[in-house]
Amino acid sequence: MEIKEPMKQKIISLSLILLTFLSCQKKQASYSIKTTTIEVPEIEKWIWLHGTSDTNAAALKTQFKTLANNGITGVLIGGDNESMFRAAKAEGLQAHIWLWTLNRGDEYIMKNHSDWYSINRNGESCFDNPPYVSYYRWLCPTNKEVRSFLKDEIRRLSQKDYIDGIHLDYVRYCDVILPIALWEKYNLVQNRELPEFDYCYCKTCRSTFQKVSSNDPLTLAEPAADSNWINFRYHQVTSLVNDLAAIAHQNQKPISAAVFPTPTIAKKLVRQDWVNWNLDRIFPMVYHAFYEEEITWVKNATSEGVSKLKSRIPVITGIYMPDIENETVLKQAIDGALNGGANGISLFGKLTSKQWKVVKGK
Ligand SMILES: [Zn+2]
Repeated sequence: MEIKEPMKQKIISLSLILLTFLSCQKKQASYSIKTTTIEVPEIEKWIWLHGTSDTNAAALKTQFKTLANNGITGVLIGGDNESMFRAAKAEGLQAHIWLWTLNRGDEYIMKNHSDWYSINRNGESCFDNPPYVSYYRWLCPTNKEVRSFLKDEIRRLSQKDYIDGIHLDYVRYCDVILPIALWEKYNLVQNRELPEFDYCYCKTCRSTFQKVSSNDPLTLAEPAADSNWINFRYHQVTSLVNDLAAIAHQNQKPISAAVFPTPTIAKKLVRQDWVNWNLDRIFPMVYHAFYEEEITWVKNATSEGVSKLKSRIPVITGIYMPDIENETVLKQAIDGALNGGANGISLFGKLTSKQWKVVKGK
């Protein structure tokens, strides 16, 4: 299929792990991902879009034409609505599917597989006792049936011709500690790991961990300080992500993930060790206000990720629009991301026309 410049993709069979930046024509750069080489704009500009069941061709054309005219180069579409993907691609946009990976309240899973859900240190399951909010239904990443369900899902989606790539969200454990700005909202002080938010102590996790450490995690005196137990959980998510990545790559599709803002915060709050993930792009959600930080933090946080990744994977900094007061702050956020070494930005939420001008002008 012919795709308009500058989004034309060159699919070349290469098995490169290393990232190589090549200066191409103006406003173009390219990098080699695990199995393909994709030409991308010099500054990638993505946006998360909630899926709809809208199939009205004219309305979709207007929606994606407007995004393209505003400088957007790629869209992360929630749900598999083929019409949305085709309409986005027709306007020259990269169209990746945005998936909730381990947080799943799907009717099918709830009805048939209550044993797939994570269990906290108090023995409560996300199936009938979701923490914080009713939609927090976390699956256990160690469970073989969960892994095989997710692998099948990624295989099926990667094989669809209209889906350009896979974008994983909620690929982590439940927040054992919430970002500090949310403590008050939930009336919590989380200066330590509380048992009701600490996962997963299901039968599979306990027996699998016992095989490698000879300890039952439930009997640990200080689970939050046990490096074997902590590393075990990092590894459960990392190995899952890398299995899913291998499947996407077999189908010549790039795969990325939305992750917590820095490697340090991601490991501490949600046990996401994303520096070790074999992805093609990383989207750290550098949502400064959640961490009670100033906008200048966007640069520092981005730069920590870039440096810990050793530039192995392109970083696309996520910006949370509800906390961006005006176009000046947006400009500071984008400049911060790029100066911190990001290859681009991804926007969550609505923009004013003045803010769109800033995005377009970059
Ligand atoms: Zn488990």
